[in-house]
Amino acid sequence: MRRVSILGATGSIGQNTIDLIARAPDDYDVVALTGGANITQLATDARALRADLAVTAYPERLEDLRAALAGSDVIAAAGAEALKEAGARPADWVMSAIVGAAGLAPGIAALEQGATLALANKESLVCAGKLVLETARLNNARLLPVDSEHSAIFQALVGEDMGAVERIIITASGGAFRDWPLEALKSATLAEASSHPNWDMGQRITIDSASMFNKAMEVIETREYFGVAPNQIEVIIHPESMIHAMVGFNDGAIMAHVGPPDMRHAIGYALHWPQRRDLPVARLDLAQIGQLNFIAPDMARYPALRLARAVMARGGLMGAAFNGAKERALDAFIAGHIHFTRMAEVVEEVLTRFESDPDLIDAAMTLDNVTQTDHLARKWADQVMAQ
Ligand code: NAD
Ligand code: MG
Repeated sequence: MRRVSILGATGSIGQNTIDLIARAPDDYDVVALTGGANITQLATDARALRADLAVTAYPERLEDLRAALAGSDVIAAAGAEALKEAGARPADWVMSAIVGAAGLAPGIAALEQGATLALANKESLVCAGKLVLETARLNNARLLPVDSEHSAIFQALVGEDMGAVERIIITASGGAFRDWPLEALKSATLAEASSHPNWDMGQRITIDSASMFNKAMEVIETREYFGVAPNQIEVIIHPESMIHAMVGFNDGAIMAHVGPPDMRHAIGYALHWPQRRDLPVARLDLAQIGQLNFIAPDMARYPALRLARAVMARGGLMGAAFNGAKERALDAFIAGHIHFTRMAEVVEEVLTRFESDPDLIDAAMTLDNVTQTDHLARKWADQVMAQ
């Protein structure tokens, strides 16, 4: 029996992970599940999977969670420390699927106990790539990518020599507004930004897909995880979302990973790695699909892609600043306080402020400094938005 924990169990990735685990209950011993405000889902899954521990991120919901778990053996806990404790509980495999920088500390705790960390939480690598990789190395823990593009790259690289890699191409659907006139983007509504043409995901990543902040983060994630130079990473719009990523080699060959847009593939690959197991995903009928299209991204439409380049060029804690500002701008868009296109402007203004303070950006990459940078970026984003 493999001991598994799921951080962010009640979300889109978490529920897809539970779907796979629940199909083979005898193979897994579920240690910890974490969630947020969806107490009913968390308690139902914790009971059904006989978890040892269930944690809600919100201390004010602890009594609700206790009540929902009454009569079971599941321990209830709440708050940031308890989330870390969920990551630190001895397990063989931990899914990191909390959304946002909040996923960093629990994921680090899982690496520190030597667990294999299946990483959906791309913010961990954007904010603190070097820290995450170093923590894995020091603790002999394995980090497996779950983002579909990064799982695809990882699979295309099996048996290959990184020295022969020329380029990595990640695909983007183009999000909800791919075909909108540029002028119309400003007035895009929350509902319009919250529906994705191909993927069914959490609301925040869906909006980030429409603004291309998601792809911007994935470019940084690619650099951190695979250690390639920024100019080796390309983004291409591929409206069908069938090819998830491609790796180009020095002999001109390109290895492409093709599959249906279903996160259970990438989750299942990380769950069973290094084996491949049968997964409940659709099999593609290529004749029916007929054609696949590729379009160069329009940089005027997607300023987030340009910002990602600036973040990589600057290095240090700029990724944490970028992510913190982005999260705050996204909160404000969701709350109806700013326009869709204002998000990238806010992030850019915050990055400009950080650029004028090199001591902040060049501080050592410790969890404390990353957290402080994240908090400062959120504060500055609020100031920029209040102007
Ligand atoms: P989601 O919003 O559906 O779920 C997020 C989970 O995190 C929930 O369990 C929620 O309760 C929990 N959570 C939210 N805020 C929290 C906080 N402050 N502290 C602790 N827990 C909190 O998100 P999702 O779409 O499942 O995405 C999860 C992560 O996976 C994100 O980093 C996202 O970028 C990444 N990802 C998602 C997909 C996808 O298809 N959904 C694909 C690739 C990568
Ligand atoms: Mg992705």
